[in-house]
Amino acid sequence: MTPDDHADEREEILSQSRSNWLVDIQNKGLRTNGLIEGGRRGGAGPSDDRAFMLGDRTVMVPTFNGPAVSSPYSLVRTEKGLTLQYNGKKLMYVDPVARPKFYDRTTKDGIPYNKIAVLHSSDVLASTVIQSCIRWAPSQRCKFCAIGHSLEAGTTVAMKTPEQLAEVVQAAEELDGIKQVTLTTGTPNETDRGALYLAECVKAIRKVSRLPVQVQCEPPDDEALYQVLKDAGATTIGLHVESFDEEVRRRMMPSKSAITLETYFRAFEKAVSVFGRNQVSTYVILGMGERIENILEGCRRAAQLGVYPFVVPLRPLQGTLLEDALPPTSEYMEEAYRNVAAILAEEGLSSEANQAGCAKCGACSALSSFEKWGTSGVGL
Ligand code: SF4
Repeated sequence: MTPDDHADEREEILSQSRSNWLVDIQNKGLRTNGLIEGGRRGGAGPSDDRAFMLGDRTVMVPTFNGPAVSSPYSLVRTEKGLTLQYNGKKLMYVDPVARPKFYDRTTKDGIPYNKIAVLHSSDVLASTVIQSCIRWAPSQRCKFCAIGHSLEAGTTVAMKTPEQLAEVVQAAEELDGIKQVTLTTGTPNETDRGALYLAECVKAIRKVSRLPVQVQCEPPDDEALYQVLKDAGATTIGLHVESFDEEVRRRMMPSKSAITLETYFRAFEKAVSVFGRNQVSTYVILGMGERIENILEGCRRAAQLGVYPFVVPLRPLQGTLLEDALPPTSEYMEEAYRNVAAILAEEGLSSEANQAGCAKCGACSALSSFEKWGTSGVGL
C-alpha cells in the first residue's frame, strides 16, 4: 500500500476536520503502541517526537512525552497499513517518515552520522553544533529545554566539527534528498554566542553543498556578525525569543531573559538588514502562562520588521523542568494561529517565501496551514 492509495480517504477526512486535527494532535501527542521505531528524544528544540506524513504534509507529533502516554490519538495496525485513531475511531491512514539512509554511515573519524546531525520532518537536516550551554545549571536553564539530555544519553557528541558536518550534509543530500539544513547551538559565551563557530560550520558546508542553511543563535553582541554569517553562506537566521511576555521570560528562562525584548527587536532589525525580509525568524512558545495580547503585539512588531514569528505549542519534554506541565488547549492554539497568520498576511510574510529553518519546515507547528487555509483573525 503506497501513500497515494490513501489519498482519497485522506482528502475526505482533512476536509471534515482540517480546522482542528493538526492542532489537536500536536498538543496531545500520539500513543504509538510500540508499532514504530525511531524518533527524537532530548536535545535542543522540541523533541520527544516522531515525523509522520499526515494528509499532504509532514508533521512532528509528540510520541514520547507525558501527554502522548495518555493521548486519545493512537496508532493501530490494520491489513491495509497503519491507521490513526481518535478514541478508537479510525481517522486516516498514516505513514511514518522512513529512517534515512545516511544514519547507517559513520564519519571518517568513526562517529555515526546520526550523532552529528539528524533528520527533522522529511527533508531537513538538523544539528546542534555545540551541544552544551552556559545556562544549563539547574537554576539557570530554560525550563522547556532538553539540550543537555541527549549528550548525557550518548546520542550525540558535544561539538560537531565543520568537516564532520560537511561530510554528513553531503551524504544526506545524496542519499536522502534533504532540502535544507538547520544549524542551532547551545550558548557557549555571552559575546558572539556561538555565531563565529556557526560561520565556520556553514563555510565548510558551502564547500560541498548549495542547500539553503539556517543558523540559529542568541543575538551576538557585535552586530557585524550577522554579515559574517551571511558571508559564510548562511541563507537565513533564527533569533529565538521564545516568548514576547517579559514575565514569562523571567519565569521560564531565568538566565536567558537577561537578554531583553528590546535587545531582540534591535537584533531583528539588524538581521533583516543583512538577510532580508522573511529570511529572519523567531521561535515563540505558547502555553507558558503568557498574556496572549503581549504575544500578538510582539509577533506584530516582529513581523513589521520583516521577521517571521514561528509560534508553537509548549511541548513538555521528559526530564525538563516542565515535564509535568500541560500543553495549551487546542482552542487557545487555534485562536493564536489564526491571529498570527492574519499578521503574517498583513505584513506579506510566509513560510513558503522563507528559505530555511523552522519557519520554512513548519513541521512542529500548524501555523503554515493557517496561512494556507486563510484566516479570520480578529487582530489585537
Ligand atoms: S520546525 Fe524546526 S524543530 Fe521542528 S522539525 Fe522543522 S526544523 Fe526541526
